[in-house]
Amino acid sequence: MALIVQKYGGTSVADPERMRNVARHVAETRKAGHHLVVVVSAMGKATDNLLQLAHQVSQNPPSREMDMLLTTGERISMSLLCMALHDVGIDAVSFTGSQVGIITDTVHGKAKILEVKGDRVRAAIGEGKVAVVAGFQGISTAKEITTLGRGGSDTTAVALAAALQADSCEIYTDVTGVFTADPRVVPQARKIGVLQFDEMLEMAGAGSKVLALRSVEFARNHDVPIHVRSSFTWEEGTWVVGRHHERMKNMEEPVISGVVQDASEAKITVHSVPDRPGVSAALFEALANANINVDMIVQNTSTAGTTDISFTVPKADVATAEPIVANLAKEIAAGGVNHDNDIAKISLVGAGMKTSPGIAAKMFRVLADNDVNIEMISTSTIRVSVVVRSANMQKAVQALHTAFNLDSGTDYSAPLPERK
Ligand code: ASP
Ligand code: MG
Repeated sequence: MALIVQKYGGTSVADPERMRNVARHVAETRKAGHHLVVVVSAMGKATDNLLQLAHQVSQNPPSREMDMLLTTGERISMSLLCMALHDVGIDAVSFTGSQVGIITDTVHGKAKILEVKGDRVRAAIGEGKVAVVAGFQGISTAKEITTLGRGGSDTTAVALAAALQADSCEIYTDVTGVFTADPRVVPQARKIGVLQFDEMLEMAGAGSKVLALRSVEFARNHDVPIHVRSSFTWEEGTWVVGRHHERMKNMEEPVISGVVQDASEAKITVHSVPDRPGVSAALFEALANANINVDMIVQNTSTAGTTDISFTVPKADVATAEPIVANLAKEIAAGGVNHDNDIAKISLVGAGMKTSPGIAAKMFRVLADNDVNIEMISTSTIRVSVVVRSANMQKAVQALHTAFNLDSGTDYSAPLPERK
């Protein structure tokens, strides 16, 4: 008997029929003897529709009220699912995030979970019930309702799994797992069987939408195995686990696990920035204080005492970021500020990269051979990312997927480094 947290995304509970399918699967899991906590997202496009509605009544909806509104989407799902569960003979009880004690900071719209109390969930499990929890929400230290950012139900699920020391966290979605590339862009993409937390973390950070970034951080920090799978086919999906997990045994670390694309960022450039200490600090402090996540940063070498600084931020944050940057540019007597929405970030991710030199060089060569210009570059020990024109995204991702032998079903392996 295990304790399993199952999370069902929006498409998994999009209509009454899908909801009843989910209820049947929960019932089967329960009848197999497992204890269950279920986390649900809002039905289908419910969150998008609520957002639209808000913008129809207000030019600039207050973030507190936006959170009050958006959290209703998950409340609808949780109560309906409990009703469907009662019909199949399962005793289930629904809870909001605040009822189960998901305590967050006070940043509306992208709150961070600080603590999960979980008392009521534990009590429900103790009574043999299935606890159904509304995803994507919590209550702040100031006792306000908060949301965890788009896709935040994944984080609710993993945070609960960590707090309850669940055996695994199953994330049900509309794809059958994590792929070597977005199958809509690369039809020859393959489903990945097992991934390490660090790889999934880099993939989520690079723009893969399969799991919310914060949920993977939580999973890694608390060692919660995640199983990403489909509620349409119910087949075995992708496991995301620690590198010492059973499932990693006898697995070769692939040099490249996947190619990830991201067209959700924009590039902001500040021209003619005076080249002296403190300028970058002031710029990025101002953005951090506005809770804007800066991703890539490039600073040119200075000519005649000034330099250009470019960085990327989520497109959704450009409207907030630009005035902040423009103000600061004025203060430090820099030149103009402009933004560019037509960029795409493409990343290669793989844990085996650490010990295989030449990955970046090969990536750049493949892009050059395909006439794709590189505008920015950043790397980690297991990732190489480039920014290119968004018009080149599809061609670049396909070429890289092929060049790194991800199409064929065999993992790319670079020549081994010389050993002395
Ligand atoms: N319903 C929220 C969203 O659409 C949270 C989630 O689906 O995870 O972003
Ligand atoms: Mg989702």
